[in-house]
Amino acid sequence: MLSFETICSPQERREIVPEPTMNEAGILPTWRAAFLARCPRCGEGRLFARPVSLALAPQCGTCRLDFGFADPGDGPAVFAILILGCVLMIGVLVAEFRFGMPIWGHLMLWSVVTPILALGLLRLLKAGLVALQYRHQAEEQRFGQK
Ligand SMILES: [Zn+2]
Repeated sequence: MLSFETICSPQERREIVPEPTMNEAGILPTWRAAFLARCPRCGEGRLFARPVSLALAPQCGTCRLDFGFADPGDGPAVFAILILGCVLMIGVLVAEFRFGMPIWGHLMLWSVVTPILALGLLRLLKAGLVALQYRHQAEEQRFGQK
C-alpha cells in the first residue's frame, strides 16, 4: 500500500507538509518541543512512548512523523552527567558544610534526588537533541543512496 511516507523522501515531506508551529528562526519550537517532549514537526504529538520513559515513540500520534530518524546517541547522557554532576556536587557541598548533614542524610537524600533529576534531565536533553536533529536534518550518511 502506498502512503505519503513511502512515496516521498524525508526532504520532500518537509517541503510539502507545512510546519504550523515553526517560526522563521525555528528557535522557539525547538525549546518548546524539548521542554514539553513533543513532536519536533507539529509540536503536539508525544515524543516518548510512555510518560516515564526514555524510549521514543515509533511515530508522532498527530502528524505521523516517523521518529526513525532520531538517534541522539550518547549526547543526552554526556550532557546530563556534566550538568547533573556539577549541580549535585554543589548540593552535596552545601548540605555538608552549610548544614552539617550526617552521612546517612546524604545517602537518603541523594539516592532519591539523583535518579529523579537524572530522568527528568535525560528526557529534556533527549527531546532537545531530537528536535535539533529534525530541525537541521542531521542523519547518518547512507552511502550508495541518494
Ligand atoms: Zn507531529
